[in-house]
Amino acid sequence: MLGAVFFWLYKQRKEPELEVNDDLSVHYIDVGQGDCELLISGGKTMLIDSGESQYAGKVTDYLKDLGVKRLDYVVATHPHSDHMGGMSRVMENFDIGEVIMPALPDEDVPTTVFFEKFLDVCENKELTLTEAKVGNVFQLGDAKAEVLAPNQTKYEDVNNYSVVLLVTHGSKKFIFDGDAEKLSEKEMVDAGLLSRIDVYKVGHHGSNSSSCAAFLKETQPKIAVISCGADNPYGHPRDGALKRISTYTGEIYRTDLNGTINIVSDGKELTVSTERK
Ligand SMILES: [Zn+2]
Repeated sequence: MLGAVFFWLYKQRKEPELEVNDDLSVHYIDVGQGDCELLISGGKTMLIDSGESQYAGKVTDYLKDLGVKRLDYVVATHPHSDHMGGMSRVMENFDIGEVIMPALPDEDVPTTVFFEKFLDVCENKELTLTEAKVGNVFQLGDAKAEVLAPNQTKYEDVNNYSVVLLVTHGSKKFIFDGDAEKLSEKEMVDAGLLSRIDVYKVGHHGSNSSSCAAFLKETQPKIAVISCGADNPYGHPRDGALKRISTYTGEIYRTDLNGTINIVSDGKELTVSTERK
């Protein structure tokens, strides 16, 4: 009898289905000191980074709860563990379309365990890696994601290889900056790639070496989102970066304070909701 009840309950438990509509929904998932963003538009999905390996379970559950079964695009902005540490474990749980990452010179290709595992998953799933090139456009329902960086093939600092994306949905523009620093930001300014935007995923967790004045002057973001861990050892976000960002916006959300942040665009307006106030 009890067995029959459990079976009935099991049958009642429906798997969530991905909501398909014309909005662009951006989730800045709280992965402590790291980066992880999920974009959904028109039933298509893009995951930008995954956070450290200890967050792979949380990220996987978060995606599954939204009904995500397939990641049409996976973007690995650059091969640091706070961005890709959990990527292999997350990818194992989903069908994967295209994997996008920066081209790295041989001497900068990491030999870290997490990166080897990432390559293994790509091989097992027979995925091809797409090198992010400035001007590449990836369609995501009604939204499009355009690569703005990296603009060079060799950098001293691995952070500057970060794939930077401009995502446009109707009149709304979002930038995802990875850990791009001042050098890469200046290259985007000099190449004339930037214009005013609505939402800025702040570069390098609010480090003082990112969000330079020239970049902010071009983009003048109305909303800024900082992905960083509470009491992180780097002091992110830094006062200098916060001050520069505050020149353009008082609307700054932080995963260490607000938890996971969701910003929905209908193409004309944005709606922000946060896990914590
Ligand atoms: Zn980082």
